[in-house]
Amino acid sequence: MGSSRRELLQWVSWLGSSWLLERATTAPAAALAPPLDACRPVGDPLLALQQGNARFAAAWQQAATQHEPGQRMAVLQQVLGEHCQVDPMALAAAQHPWAAVLTCADSRIPLEWIFCVGAGELFGVRSAGNTAFDAGVASLEYAVEQLGVPLILVMGHSGCGAVRAALSDQPLSPLQEQLVAPIRACLQPGDDLSRAVRRNACSTAQQLTAGSDLLRQAQASGRVQIASGCFDLATGRMELL
Ligand SMILES: [Zn+2]
Repeated sequence: MGSSRRELLQWVSWLGSSWLLERATTAPAAALAPPLDACRPVGDPLLALQQGNARFAAAWQQAATQHEPGQRMAVLQQVLGEHCQVDPMALAAAQHPWAAVLTCADSRIPLEWIFCVGAGELFGVRSAGNTAFDAGVASLEYAVEQLGVPLILVMGHSGCGAVRAALSDQPLSPLQEQLVAPIRACLQPGDDLSRAVRRNACSTAQQLTAGSDLLRQAQASGRVQIASGCFDLATGRMELL
């Protein structure tokens, strides 16, 4: 085992120790508030997401110009190592994310990477095809009502397998049929995959308020902003829709 891996495992063990948990859960909430907000942007959270994504996309595109896998990862790691990180001890006790992202379960769109943020900043709700599934909407209600999250971004992505399945007539399992049903319901004749992904993200954003009194009222009162976007795997860029 390499020393860096051993150190990481020791750190994880330390993080999970009863000593830490006892300290974290008994510390006064007021004392933990500043470190929890240490990385919170002072301005518009949507603009902050766009700016973080611009940094990631630049690194992603620069990495693509390198010839060797190690060089490409080095370019990425340099950018990913620069972002702010909330104190792990504060995160062990509480969370105060400043944006929620409802997106696909696709493994190629790690939120902390593509928005250049650390743990504790984004409340992630994920399901293949980023539909407005009941448990997901309820999770977003919690984020807005209990955590005070001021922004929900619904984000589709290029090459989405769930949207491709919705466009196809290939047989699916009963549960998968349920999953793609809301995607199929919003499609228009002639939609290709790219248009279908965008239409699905916009439709999901509309369904959040259509299906939740809590989110509709929060949006109407200005407590939460709801936006939709599309992430492109080739460029690393998130485009607002
Ligand atoms: Zn997907």
